[in-house]
Amino acid sequence: MLDALEKHIAVLDGNGVVLFANRAWRDFLAQEEEGRHLRAGVGEPCRGVHLPGPDGRSWVGQAEVTEILAGTRAFWQVQYPVSTQRGLRWFAMRLSPFVLPGGNGALVVHEDISERKELEEQLSHHAFHDRLTALPNRALLLDRLNMAVKRSKRQGRPYYALLYLDIDRFNLVNETLGHVAGDRLLMAISHRLLRATRDVDTLSRFGGDEFVLLLDAIAGEEQARIVAERILDEMREPFRLRRHEIVVSLSIGIVCGSDIFENAGQVLRDAETVMQRAKEQGGGRYEMFSEAMRNLARKRLQMEMDLRRAIEGDQLELYYQPIVSLRNGQIRGLEALARWNHPELGMISPLEFIPVAEETGLIVPLGSWVLRRACAKLAELQAIYPTAAGLTMNVNISGTQFARPGFVQEVEDILAATGVRPGTVKLELTESVIMADAEKAVGVIKALKERGVSVVIDDFGTGYSSLSYLQRFPVNCLKVDRSFVLKMDDTRENREIVKTIIKMAHSLGLEVVAEGVEQQSQLAILAGLNCENGQGFLFSKPLDAGEIDELLRYRLAASG
Ligand code: C2E
Ligand code: MG
Ligand code: MG
Repeated sequence: MLDALEKHIAVLDGNGVVLFANRAWRDFLAQEEEGRHLRAGVGEPCRGVHLPGPDGRSWVGQAEVTEILAGTRAFWQVQYPVSTQRGLRWFAMRLSPFVLPGGNGALVVHEDISERKELEEQLSHHAFHDRLTALPNRALLLDRLNMAVKRSKRQGRPYYALLYLDIDRFNLVNETLGHVAGDRLLMAISHRLLRATRDVDTLSRFGGDEFVLLLDAIAGEEQARIVAERILDEMREPFRLRRHEIVVSLSIGIVCGSDIFENAGQVLRDAETVMQRAKEQGGGRYEMFSEAMRNLARKRLQMEMDLRRAIEGDQLELYYQPIVSLRNGQIRGLEALARWNHPELGMISPLEFIPVAEETGLIVPLGSWVLRRACAKLAELQAIYPTAAGLTMNVNISGTQFARPGFVQEVEDILAATGVRPGTVKLELTESVIMADAEKAVGVIKALKERGVSVVIDDFGTGYSSLSYLQRFPVNCLKVDRSFVLKMDDTRENREIVKTIIKMAHSLGLEVVAEGVEQQSQLAILAGLNCENGQGFLFSKPLDAGEIDELLRYRLAASG
C-alpha cells in the first residue's frame, strides 16, 4: 500500500536502522544526484540527511533521530536544496516517533517539495514586486519604510530619506502613444532610476507613474539632495521608444527622517505633499519637506475640519464696515465682511480662513451664506429707515464662486428672496479673479448688470493694475488698495500714484473708494484728489449687526 505513495517513506527500528522502505524511497536512493543525500537502504542506519557543511559535520538530523527514538522529541524536520542537472531541487525530511511491536521506532517521510517551493517563491515575489518593472512594490516599500522609521526612533537620529517621484504629464504618453508604449517607458525609466541609486536603497514602483525611493543609512539631507539631482540628471537625455523620442521630467518630493514620524504612512503623506508642490512649480524639480510646511499643513487640515462645522453650525457672522462719502461724510453703503467666531481660537480673520475655504471648495456654501445674509440685512435696513433707501451693500466674491456656472442665477434668486431694492447690491471682485478668464468675466458681469447688480474692483493696484484692461469690463467702481493709501503720507511719489489712479479711473467713468483710511491727513489728501468715497478705521471699524443698527439709527436720523 505504501508503495503507491509518491512520498519516500521509511520505518526505523529502535537503533535507527531502516526496517522498511517503500518503493519511492528505494527508487530515490538509486538516483545518482539526489539519492546520495539519504544513503539509508533497508538494513542500513538512517542518520538524517547527508549535507556536508563548512563545520566538517556531514549529517544533519543525526542527533534528532536519536532523540526521537529515545522518546525525548516529538517531531523534527528539515528542508534542503540540491543542485541537479534539472536545476535546483528542494527536498524535505520529517521524522516522528512510530510505535513498533518490539518497542520505539521512527517514521521518516522524505519528499520532493521543489514545485511547492517555487510556487511559494513566486507568490512572495508577486506579493512584493511590481509585475511590469520587477521593482519592489508598495507593500514591500511600506514594510522597509516602517522598519526605517522604527530604527530611527530607537536610535534617536534620522538617517533615512524618502523620495516620492511622479512623472510629469505621463497621461499624455498613454493617451498619444498608447498603453504599450507607456509601459515600455515606465520600464525604461525604472532602469535609469536604478542607475541613480545604490544597492542598499529601495526603489519601488508605487503604482501608475509613481515611484518611491527609500534611502537607507544616509548621513543627512545633503545626500538626499544629491540623489534627487542625480535622478533629474538621468532624465535629461530623451527616451527612445521605437520611432519616438520622449523627454521625461519628474517631480520629486523629499522627506528626511525625523523622530516625529510614528509610521510609514505619515512619511509618505508628507512626501506626496511636497511632490505636489514640486509639480505645481512646473515639475522637473525636487522639493524638500520642512518643519514649517508640516505645521502649516496640520493647521490647514484642522482648520478645514473646523470650518466645515462652522458653516453648518452658528459660528460665522457678518460684520459691516461703512463706506463714507468724502464730500459730505454721509454713509453711502456698507461692506459685508465675514467673521468666524471659533469656539476655542476666538475670532479668526477672513485673511486666514477664506484661502482655506477657497482651496477646499467650502467657499461655495460659505459664499452663498454671506451673500444671502448680507442681502437680508440690507433689505431689513432699507425697510426700517426710509432715508436708507439708497444704502448699498458690498459683498466680496471669490474666484471659485464667480466661476461657477450657476452663479448669476444664484444671485438673482437671493435678490428675489430677500427683496432688496434694485441697484443696491455690489459685488467686489479682484482683478485676478476677472483676469482668470477675461472673456467669460465680461459675460458674467454684463448678466449681473442686467439684474441691477454692479461690480466693484477690489484691492486695485495689487494685481494686474491695468486700467486699460478694465475698460473692457462693465464695472463702475474701483477700490484703491489700502497699501497705497497707507504710503501716501510718505513721499510725493506715492501720492502721485494715487493721484494717477484716481484721475484715470474718473476718465473711464469709474467711481473711486479709498480703502484703509486711518488718518485725518490721508482724508485731506484724498479729498483734494477728488476721491469720492473712503472706507477705514477713521470713519468706523467693521461693526457687528447690532452695532451697525445703532450707528445707522443715529447717523440717518441726523442726516434725515
Ligand atoms: P477687503 O475686501 O479688501 O476688505 C477690507 C479689509 O480691510 C477688511 O479686513 C477690513 O477690516 C480692513 N480694513 C478696513 N479699514 C481698515 C483700516 O483703516 N485699516 C486697516 N488696517 N484695515 C482696514 P477683513 O475684514 O479682515 O477682511 C480681509 C479680506 O478678507 C477682505 O479684504 C476680503 O478680501 C476677504 N473677505 C472678507 N469677507 C469675505 C467674504 O465674505 N467673502 C470673500 N470671498 N472674501 C471675504
Ligand atoms: Mg472687499
Ligand atoms: Mg479691499
